[in-house]
Amino acid sequence: MQVERLRDWAELASDWYWEQDENLRFTFFSDRADGQPAVPFNVSMGKTRFEIGLLFESAAHATQHKADLEARREFRNVALSKVHLDGRQQTISVSGRPIFGDNGCFLGYRGVARDISYENRIIEKLVDQERLLSEIIDASANPIVVKDQHYRFMLMNDAACKFLKRPREALVGKTDLDIFPEEAARRFRETDDEVLRHGGPVEYEGYYPVPEGPHPWMFVRKSAFMRHNGDKGIFVAMTDLTARRQTETALLLSERRFRDIAEAAGEYVWETDPRGRFTYVSPRVENVLGYRPEEMVGKSYFRFLPNGEIQHVRHWMAENESPDGAFRDLEHRFIYKSGEVRCLRANGVTVRDDHGVLTGRRGTTSDITERKKAETRIAFLANRDPLTELANRSFFQDRLSQAISTAVRHRESLAVMFLDLDRFKIINDSLGHHVGDLLLKEVAKRLLECVRKIDTVARLGGDEFIVLAEGLARDADAQNIAIKILGAVAHPIPVLDYELHTTCSIGAALFPRDGETVEALMKHADLAMYAAKERGRGSFRFFDPEMNRRASKRQHLESALRMALAREEFVLHYQPQVDIRSSGVVGIEALVRWNHPEEGLVPPGEFIGVAEETGLIRPLGEWVLRTACEQNKRWQEAGFAPVKMAVNVSAGQFMDPRLFGESLLSILADTGLDPRFLELEMTESLLLQNGEDNLAALNEFAGWGLRIAVDDFGTGYSSLAYLKQLPVDSLKIDLSFVKDIRSSKDDVAIVQAIIAMAHSLSLRVLAEGVETQVQLDTLGRMGCDEYQGYLLSKPVPAERFAELFLCDALKSAPHSVV
Ligand code: C2E
Ligand code: MG
Ligand code: MG
Repeated sequence: MQVERLRDWAELASDWYWEQDENLRFTFFSDRADGQPAVPFNVSMGKTRFEIGLLFESAAHATQHKADLEARREFRNVALSKVHLDGRQQTISVSGRPIFGDNGCFLGYRGVARDISYENRIIEKLVDQERLLSEIIDASANPIVVKDQHYRFMLMNDAACKFLKRPREALVGKTDLDIFPEEAARRFRETDDEVLRHGGPVEYEGYYPVPEGPHPWMFVRKSAFMRHNGDKGIFVAMTDLTARRQTETALLLSERRFRDIAEAAGEYVWETDPRGRFTYVSPRVENVLGYRPEEMVGKSYFRFLPNGEIQHVRHWMAENESPDGAFRDLEHRFIYKSGEVRCLRANGVTVRDDHGVLTGRRGTTSDITERKKAETRIAFLANRDPLTELANRSFFQDRLSQAISTAVRHRESLAVMFLDLDRFKIINDSLGHHVGDLLLKEVAKRLLECVRKIDTVARLGGDEFIVLAEGLARDADAQNIAIKILGAVAHPIPVLDYELHTTCSIGAALFPRDGETVEALMKHADLAMYAAKERGRGSFRFFDPEMNRRASKRQHLESALRMALAREEFVLHYQPQVDIRSSGVVGIEALVRWNHPEEGLVPPGEFIGVAEETGLIRPLGEWVLRTACEQNKRWQEAGFAPVKMAVNVSAGQFMDPRLFGESLLSILADTGLDPRFLELEMTESLLLQNGEDNLAALNEFAGWGLRIAVDDFGTGYSSLAYLKQLPVDSLKIDLSFVKDIRSSKDDVAIVQAIIAMAHSLSLRVLAEGVETQVQLDTLGRMGCDEYQGYLLSKPVPAERFAELFLCDALKSAPHSVV
């Protein structure tokens, strides 16, 4: 029974049994051994292990086994293997126990054996796989961690160690809680749980608060797996997103920044698909166009363009779009929600995907209607005189040059007319610039009404205007226009509370008769205008070549005058001013002459004008003043009765009253003449210029004791009311009134009125140009105080003057010092 039981077991067991004799030769194999290639019955019985070809798996096993056998000890699980002829290797595990006889003698070994080739292969495979796995894991640049179901780190690759900044030994067996701050660890634990619960992979992005440095953003993929022992594990693979995340954030930021800037600049931002349909429009659009974004999205850009504009935009894009699809400053009209068509300016780029396929456009757009208007206005103003909005000089020149070309082509004539307001300066100085400006504006308006639409009217500055009349058939056409203008300007002009009466002088030059270039025509018209002015106010003249000759003569005169000044060719002549009642000399007028080496004495009328125009009047005037003062002082020192010396002062000298005052002072100081013996003769227009400055200077001069006389009185336009404010001592009635005092009733009336008025203002009155006794008598009867004229004496040189008049004066002056 016992034996049977044992046999059953033995045969049922997968192991087999064996026995060896004292020489370790196999003497028994259980049935199970049959079929084991390692120990075939037929060849194995009576043979030793070596003889069968069973060898140790490892040297360690061999040494141990040998020792066991020598000591006749039991051995266990010794791995032996045999390589078969076909190359297969079989491994068996053998355990044995020594058999001893009753007398204790060694009889052999008895034991069990088991084929472990399969197990071995499995284990080998497992080890292999594990090695492969860890190699793969390590090869990954991304951190990979394997956790067990208790969240403990089992396995991690180098990248994970590097990422967690800890060596492997410090990580194995630890959990997230040991490594990360609690809040983060809990976060990770939740996803671990989720993975374990559902098994399926979980993916998420999150930052990892690693020990040092900035917290990297990781993309994490966790999945569960079943371990060989049935437990679950967690596989964690991570990808570092930090760099991508930074780029994305930067992109997002810059996009937002760009959008903010664009919107702050009053622009809206848009995107279209390849067919030009809006896919996005920023909310700002509502402020600009009136549409809400959703009213535009899905609709084509072109749907919002007015008639004709699509063509313009297509054409513009074809011309201006850069090769990379960008375009700048596309200006076009656009229909606003209100229905209004306004002007927009768009900038944009073409958007392409990674493969270069067009996906649409995007850009910014703003309303430039106002800017456009302003630009148009600026362009307009660049060519305009800001006050009158007439053309300015450069624009006029352009137009004239074009007109000349046209005239040549059409064999036509054209006229350039220079025009200057008479008396404008007086109005400007006496009534103020504001009134002057309004007057100029009105004149501009009237000029435009006198010409045709194709003609050009320009203001060159001040009160100078110029007119271009094109397409003229006859010279008379120009004359007709000029006459029309003269009439229009002469018509009273109401400005504020005043009714202004002004006239103008016009000079005209014709193309091609008077010149064929812009310069020649303008110059000749200018000369003609001067000639017109000389003829008298409100007149018109055509250019004639004689004017040119005179102009060049004038130029010649200018250089000659400069020379004359340097060579001291000027002399003063003196004319007595006599008290009508006492017949005594009460003053002397100094009058300049040019002692020309060839032409002899040249009267001032021939050069004072040019000296004025060229500024030479200032040095010349200063010389006259100094010489006259010196002369008067010398006569006084010679013992003649002191009288005032009258010196003519012209507008050019008095331009800057302060400067003039300074030069006066130094002359008085240098010559030592008492200011009471100097009288300044100034014309009405001069007294009226500069307004306030003038008055202050005159008052200062008067304060020094200096006298002021109004020269040529009656020819100007000064109102008495105005004269009253000035520190004037006397009026000199212009010789033109004196000349006809016998025959002209008007002149009598005027002279009488002047005298009465002057006396009412306590001013003395002197009559100029008295040539006859009759004139003198008449003036005397009218109450005129003094006179001057050929009746008594022409202006004469100093020595002659002293001979003629001062000796008498010396005799008759009781207070004179001899
Ligand atoms: P004015 O100041 O009115 O001078 C009077 C002019 O009348 C002088 O002419 C004088 O010779 C002339 N005259 C005097 N008595 C008679 C007369 O009985 N009959 C006629 N027909 N004429 C008479 P003149 O010397 O040729 O001077 C002309 C103008 O030139 C002056 O007019 C004055 O405005 C200007 N002038 C003369 N000398 C100077 C000067 O030194 N400086 C400035 N700025 N102007 C001067
Ligand atoms: Mg004078
Ligand atoms: Mg005079």
